[in-house]
Amino acid sequence: MSEVFLGMPAHAPADVAALHAARPFPAAARDALADPQLRRNIGAATATIRGKRAHVVAELDDWEQLRLAGQAVKAATMSRLDEHLRRLEQEVTARGGTVHWARDAAEANRIVTGLVRATGADEVVKVKSMVTQEIGLNEALAEAGIAAWETDLAELIVQLGHDTPSHILVPAIHRNRAEIREIFLREMPGADPALTDDPRALAMAARAHLRRKFLTARVAVSGANFAVADTGTLLVVESEGNGRMCLTLPDTLITVMGIEKVVPTWADLEVFLQLLPRSSTGERMNPYTSAWTGVVPGDGPQEFHLVLLDNGRTAVLADEVGREALHCIRCSACLNVCPVYERTGGHAYGSVYPGPIGAVLTPLLTGTAGNPSLPYASTLCGACFDACPVRIDIPSLLVHLRSRTTQERALPSAEAVAMAAASWVMASPWRFGWAGRLARLGRLFARRGRIRRLPPPLSAWTTARDAPAPPPQTFRDWWRENRGQP
Ligand code: SF4
Repeated sequence: MSEVFLGMPAHAPADVAALHAARPFPAAARDALADPQLRRNIGAATATIRGKRAHVVAELDDWEQLRLAGQAVKAATMSRLDEHLRRLEQEVTARGGTVHWARDAAEANRIVTGLVRATGADEVVKVKSMVTQEIGLNEALAEAGIAAWETDLAELIVQLGHDTPSHILVPAIHRNRAEIREIFLREMPGADPALTDDPRALAMAARAHLRRKFLTARVAVSGANFAVADTGTLLVVESEGNGRMCLTLPDTLITVMGIEKVVPTWADLEVFLQLLPRSSTGERMNPYTSAWTGVVPGDGPQEFHLVLLDNGRTAVLADEVGREALHCIRCSACLNVCPVYERTGGHAYGSVYPGPIGAVLTPLLTGTAGNPSLPYASTLCGACFDACPVRIDIPSLLVHLRSRTTQERALPSAEAVAMAAASWVMASPWRFGWAGRLARLGRLFARRGRIRRLPPPLSAWTTARDAPAPPPQTFRDWWRENRGQP
């Protein structure tokens, strides 16, 4: 472990700001589509995960029953979320932990920064956590002079590459082995110049870097996959063992958790711990399941803080249709089957939550006004629903959000104007007849039976597709000519 690595900032804020600069999905997707290497990397990775998932799901006779059970538990939990959260607070507190409530990202960041400062530490080790990315915790800690060290291998690659995650489960899915080797050689001081792009060699290089951090860090920050209200127990599932190190070695553990992650009882985990690994990594069970309950004297962190984050979730809960998005267990199966995600990758979604679930969760959490194009980032093919282990009806949520986007528009969209005009024309046989004759003017723009370019505003249609030339004779004229008056 080199000293230079130890002094590396948590993120290069300027890079992160640039990468997070939200652009409408269509513009960002166009850039992604022009990158064939990106498409190859993502296509290969998602195909592999899809194959593994299909294999282990096919082993279970009761997969559909498990999905129904997962859906039912989530729906029942959401309907009494306040009760379960109060029970969780009560149990965590009774077992020596401290619970903090954060309304939004700023409040959560203030709480975590204050807690780390109170320990006197100037660095923390982190377990992979979507929610801390959602609130920009690393950047907030960096501003307070506290370095945050990602310990998940893929998150480390993203952090060293001054990049942002592009997949829920495999944040560096857009990078191939050769690119990762280059990042390590460039950003990981002390990396062996003879480092190859063999996966084991890359993993061992990261392991050597991280080990000293695990052994010296006094504070760890984690997310949580689940929290059991009954006993006040938190759970993290992971594959590399880095989480286990962070959750057991430091003196202080701070867990930031979205309020929707609570489940009422341990029995509910029986369902989710079967659904999650099969849907995410395509494994029968995940290699590490770490569970902790408050503080145990002489064993593990002696100070435990749980930050319960709202950040828009109660508003989503109040949306009777949209609340289903809170059932998500972040397995990423919907990303791996989505034809749009496979071609654009995750950065095009401009959010830490990419893919189909991101296309609904981001607008729900932050408002459709700031993300009007995301609900349209889908073909509505339904593959996401079929893959979702808790049966979230993402296509219906997308349609719901499209409707909301349309209603929120100050001015009617070109599509709405066109539809209103079409309705007016079609309401009258006389107007419809004349419209058919006028449409024949389109033949002036046609070449070999196709119209490839139209003048504005109709050019919005022909920039991405062409249109058949109108026939020389309308059907009405043909009928009149051949069959007499209609
Ligand atoms: S929406 Fe369903 S499939 Fe997608 S990440 Fe969430 S739980 Fe997994």
